[in-house]
Amino acid sequence: TGTLYIVPTPIGNLGDLSERAVAVLRTVDCVAAEDTRHSRPLLQQVGSKARVIALHEHNEQQKAQTLIEQLEQGQSIALISDAGTPLISDPGYVMVRACRRQGIPVVALPGPCAITTALSGAGIATDRFTFEGFLPAKPQQRRKQLELLKTEVRTLVFYESPHRILHTLQDMAEVIGPERELVLARELTKQFETYLFGNAEQLLQRLHDDSNQQRGEMVLMVAGFQPSEQTSDEPGAEAQRALRVLCEELP
Ligand code: SAM
Repeated sequence: TGTLYIVPTPIGNLGDLSERAVAVLRTVDCVAAEDTRHSRPLLQQVGSKARVIALHEHNEQQKAQTLIEQLEQGQSIALISDAGTPLISDPGYVMVRACRRQGIPVVALPGPCAITTALSGAGIATDRFTFEGFLPAKPQQRRKQLELLKTEVRTLVFYESPHRILHTLQDMAEVIGPERELVLARELTKQFETYLFGNAEQLLQRLHDDSNQQRGEMVLMVAGFQPSEQTSDEPGAEAQRALRVLCEELP
């Protein structure tokens, strides 16, 4: 049986492709790429002679069986996405699951991923975090999702698109409130890599003042809920303290 390799590719800086990733891309029989046109230059650069086939969210279900048959015949396959780690808001889940169910070896290589890069550079709590992927595009669903996440104590990590960042920040300002620290990590590993810090209102202002900051690829991180924080349904820390003092004074 062949092996399915999961191979992360750079999220901007080509120097982040690992030696091991290069070796795998050079030796496999086939590369399954999210977008073959996008990935050809990278494959050419590393000297990969592998056959390249397209595996994206629209054909993964249908292609999986053909690829499984090739693996069963002893061919090895590397799965790559346009950027970063496959399966992380990218295709690959159907393939890996099918391989695991059928006892076909899967080897995942570690490598570039926007989540870990953003978290490790942000200076926000990383001991516990929850990756939320992209928020829903529809305003009502997005706000509902934020309502559900409002009292999550772990750091929240979102992928966001330049088209929606202003709406998302606006919704966060309203739903999550002004006390929460946010970090917007843009264009990681690239020339214009930037981290912006502040609450939702402040980030919104910053993006309005400088529309360049609305561009590019971005990861939005939100500090987790702290039980002392004021929510609309509960008295805030200050009010609770005042209440305790008053109670002590009561006969
Ligand atoms: N599989 C990829 C990974 O491992 O990070 C993520 C793929 S997802 C379709 C694309 C999203 O990842 C972008 O919209 C952005 O939110 C985030 N992203 C990818 N590259 C990035 C970068 N260089 N800087 C900031 N965010 C990035």
